[in-house]
Amino acid sequence: MNGNVFDLAIIGAGAVGLSTAWKIQRHYPDMRIAVLDKEAEVSAHQTGHNSGVIHSGLYYKPGSLKARLCVQGRDELVAFCREYEVAHDVCGKIVVAATEDELPRLDKIFATGLANGLSAIERIDARQILEHEPYCRGIAGIWVPYTGIVDFPGVCRALAQLIPRVNRHSKVITGAEVVQLYRKGNVSYIETPRGQVQARYVIACAGLESDRIARMDGLRPQVRIVGFRGDYYDLSEQGMHKVRNLIYPVPNPAFPFLGVHFTRMVLGGVECGPNAVFVFKREGYGKTDFDFRDTRDALGYAGTWNLFCKHWRFGLDEYRRAFSKARFLKQLQRLLPGLVMEDLVPGRSGVRAMALAPDGSMVDDFAWETHQNAIHVLNAPSPAATACLAIGDEILAKAQEEFAWN
Ligand SMILES: Cc1cc2nc3c(=O)[nH]c(=O)nc-3n(C[C@H](O)[C@H](O)[C@H](O)COP(=O)(O)OP(=O)(O)OC[C@H]3O[C@@H](n4cnc5c(N)ncnc54)[C@H](O)[C@@H]3O)c2cc1C
Repeated sequence: MNGNVFDLAIIGAGAVGLSTAWKIQRHYPDMRIAVLDKEAEVSAHQTGHNSGVIHSGLYYKPGSLKARLCVQGRDELVAFCREYEVAHDVCGKIVVAATEDELPRLDKIFATGLANGLSAIERIDARQILEHEPYCRGIAGIWVPYTGIVDFPGVCRALAQLIPRVNRHSKVITGAEVVQLYRKGNVSYIETPRGQVQARYVIACAGLESDRIARMDGLRPQVRIVGFRGDYYDLSEQGMHKVRNLIYPVPNPAFPFLGVHFTRMVLGGVECGPNAVFVFKREGYGKTDFDFRDTRDALGYAGTWNLFCKHWRFGLDEYRRAFSKARFLKQLQRLLPGLVMEDLVPGRSGVRAMALAPDGSMVDDFAWETHQNAIHVLNAPSPAATACLAIGDEILAKAQEEFAWN
């Protein structure tokens, strides 16, 4: 690798790393930035395996980073996609209560949405649900006009092209797995198979590997990353007409997952999912993938066992559904009773990085920590892809404050 000395190295070319790099590059055009990713392409993990939804900010605790940055980032993302011609569509979504006992939770979500500034959301009744989605059955719902769909890998490719246009010495370097990270004086040395990179500052946005990169850098994070795979089914040609846009259930408040939903994809097709299954391999997309180190790290951690103890029934149900199309279909039929086996074909999957505290609780909000000349993003779960540009601004501000950048 030639020209391996940079002002800033960003580890991870997902939505968060690339947005952060772009925001910093635009603010400091003279700064030489290297974005390092271990894979051959950008957005190879969470960002490229997600549901492709521009979230509205409906669910998140008012005042949290998630709530603020989702709302801010959503609008900015749409503007970015317009400007740089990335496929997107602000088509809106409905959240649907199938049974009476879900109504108090629906009310709560509605109130949270209003508190987060979503003044255009509407409570809808069973007839209005049918107007939006003729095959959907529910007793009440919420219409959310802000929600959209987007090509997140397209967003990342656009960002990766924009960065070196601002500074021709900046680079997005793929195939560069960070295997060692150490500091001498005020310079960080980063070893990769493509050579050594030296940088004055480091920002790590490594998703499923974020806790390991933090430990490599000498930080001792309180949390550990545990992976939760989400499997999708595609609607077949014959079933595709049963969904127009996006249909979501009322989520279980005990979990940071939104429940299996129906999503029209911006590049075509309709997906149903994802479920949430504990994985034995952090970047394992197959149902039986296994990695010794990942399993040892997860099962050797008290937080994982505390999580299992608290939520064993939910976990078991999700496992059963992962291996049974009939059970998956049954869950989808709560909202779309007319769906049949032939409407579903197995699709892709994604793995979410969940930061787990030792007591088994899942860290809810976005989280980053400073360590000497580095900032480590330790938790960037959904809606971090939606919020990526706003997260970039937030990390820029943090770097200015912590590193006295002027
Ligand atoms: C199934 C699923 C559905 C989701 N749906 C949505 C949605 O619809 N809308 C939404 O807003 N959010 C959604 N999310 C969440 C969203 O995708 C993530 O919050 C977001 O993509 C996180 O981005 P990131 O850049 O932090 O992580 P990632 O996209 O995972 O990027 C991390 C990068 O770091 C790289 N890396 C790791 N280790 C190293 C190393 N040692 N050296 C170099 N590089 C390294 C990886 O290769 C990777 O490219 C979903 C997530 C999943 C998994």
